[in-house]
Amino acid sequence: MAEAALFDTFSRAPLRFVRGEGVWLVTESGERYLDFGAGVAVTSCGHSHPHLVDTLRDQAEKVWHLSNLYEIPDQERLARRLADATFADKVFFTNSGAEALECAIKTARRYHYSKGHGEKFHIITFEGAFHGRTIATIAAGGQEKYMEGFGPKAQGFDQVPFGDLEALKAAITENTAAILIEPIQGEGGIRVVPKEFLQALRTLCDEHGLLLMFDEVQTGVGRTGKFFGYEWSGVAPDIMAVAKGIGGGFPFGACLATAEAASGMKPGVHGTTYGGNPLAMAVGNAVLDVVLAEGFLQNVRDVALVFRQGLAALKDRFPDVIEEIRGEGLMLGIKAKVPAGELNTAMREEHLLGVPAGDNVIRLLPPLVVTAEEARDGIARIEKAAERIQREQLKKTA
Ligand SMILES: *Cc1c(COP(=O)(O)O)cnc(C)c1O
Repeated sequence: MAEAALFDTFSRAPLRFVRGEGVWLVTESGERYLDFGAGVAVTSCGHSHPHLVDTLRDQAEKVWHLSNLYEIPDQERLARRLADATFADKVFFTNSGAEALECAIKTARRYHYSKGHGEKFHIITFEGAFHGRTIATIAAGGQEKYMEGFGPKAQGFDQVPFGDLEALKAAITENTAAILIEPIQGEGGIRVVPKEFLQALRTLCDEHGLLLMFDEVQTGVGRTGKFFGYEWSGVAPDIMAVAKGIGGGFPFGACLATAEAASGMKPGVHGTTYGGNPLAMAVGNAVLDVVLAEGFLQNVRDVALVFRQGLAALKDRFPDVIEEIRGEGLMLGIKAKVPAGELNTAMREEHLLGVPAGDNVIRLLPPLVVTAEEARDGIARIEKAAERIQREQLKKTA
């Protein structure tokens, strides 16, 4: 039963997990669920990964927290590793995805301000986007349902339809600072942005002196089968927000940028108490040990292929239940023909956890350590769920 002492902001499934092992979650009564939600793309290395557990325990015995008034060796090391493995030269660590986006937005505005163009503070975003729940990021996401009742919309976010290049061109003015996009919309329903579109954005940004910002909070850190999703397009951003999978379950995020894009961020202009603290940084380095290990991302791609083929076969078998399979790597979505909530509930009854998204989609975001056998186990559970829905549909029409 819902606890009355909690804010009523979430409608929760009546499930209480007390333990996690790899891709499995275990309830109080010992029931096992295949966790293909991964806490919304967070537990990238699975639950209780031995290397992450050991790292966290070791660090807990040394020092938990240090202010950014001091040098933090693991923070420096993680920043260096992220810079070496991406387009970026500079990293700012945060505690969440929304804060990584806040940093990205501030970095872009400050860049133009420091060049003498304080009027360039508008950021173009896309319909269906999700960038977080702070006052600025709900304005960036532009979804009415998240802004309603929270006062005037934060200024400086101009939204255009998803994938509409002409509308985008028309939206660029002398006040535009940057374009912000998720390479694959997550909350929006696993909507993949074609690589040609990302390439066109890069060209437009270069032509107009705009910064290109990618929100890779959900697509990042191996989720799509590359270290970052943008690698599939061959296009690099100037600024990128990261979180979720990078902490493997320890809450933290990061804003990455080129030296040029970060050039306005001088001492004192931005800050954080917890961001980059030793516990988070130790775990972040351990996550990179796993994800950047030789062969890891290749394995993600291989298992993803098995998973996707299995899902495609289900779509062919259950055309009245499944409309479409979408996504890249282990960021997959089932667009349902029936209400997506119905499919999600049926999956949960088969002890498989997915995550609902917009556009009537159920997301499948298993831990990146999932094996082909576990992926097939997941497919078998979705099959049973689809079978049951189909049976009930036939009963209704009979
Ligand atoms: C989850 C998410 C965010 C917000 O992250 P929080 O840690 O919840 O603040 C922002 N952007 C995208 C693409 C996300 O998936």
